[in-house]
Amino acid sequence: MVDSGAFPTPRKPDELAGQLKEMKPSVIAVAFAGFAHQGKIAFSPNLPEYQGFPLAEFLSRETSARVVLDNDANLFTLGEAKRGAARGARTVLGLTLGTGIGGGLVIDGKVYRGAGFALEPGHMIVDPNGPPCGCGNRGCLESLLGEEAFCARFGYASAKEAFEAGDEKAWDFYGYWLGLGIANLLNILDPDAVVLGGGIAGATELFEKPMIAAIAGGTVKWKRRKTRLARSELGDKAALWGGYLLAENPGD
Ligand SMILES: [Zn+2]
Repeated sequence: MVDSGAFPTPRKPDELAGQLKEMKPSVIAVAFAGFAHQGKIAFSPNLPEYQGFPLAEFLSRETSARVVLDNDANLFTLGEAKRGAARGARTVLGLTLGTGIGGGLVIDGKVYRGAGFALEPGHMIVDPNGPPCGCGNRGCLESLLGEEAFCARFGYASAKEAFEAGDEKAWDFYGYWLGLGIANLLNILDPDAVVLGGGIAGATELFEKPMIAAIAGGTVKWKRRKTRLARSELGDKAALWGGYLLAENPGD
């Protein structure tokens, strides 16, 4: 990897193709924040123009590049498992904390996708009477901890503002619900390592204590082994690394 650049995700696929064409890439890896499978975007709550769109085939036709497409949290987890904070761990659960709550699971170096869309911990229902979620259900982890919902609940305009305020009540809330979600995931998946990434993971000191307490309180009691809990080492390059690794080895 010699260079990396950034531009906001264009609202429409043909604008994206236009931007990419100028870069003349030979391989394109798309880390998509939504439900993506077999080159297609199945559900895209934040970028409606992409909904149901065969993005990989389209970009490949428009740019003549080879295209791999996956969910951004899957690629984040693959990057951290192979090149980042969870190197050497056999089963790795990655969680991305930001606009939404994304997740990925890597087993023996390969992303676990189930029948296509596995690991959407943001849509784990933790409070059946909770607020409505973008997916159509109620009380999903993301309906409590997605950046917009979390900030609105405590009267902040952005997560940055909530960091700066260091509001203990708000971050206790965040840590409690996140820890509860992680405890459920540990009981189901028992990974060797959990890696936290995404913008809000930058505030881990603020919610670490209530999160650890909720994990300890929610994991089954006979389980003595401590799961390794780490923060992303690759930061916003983790999904880029994951995309690179997937393009190199499409079977992952
Ligand atoms: Zn949901």
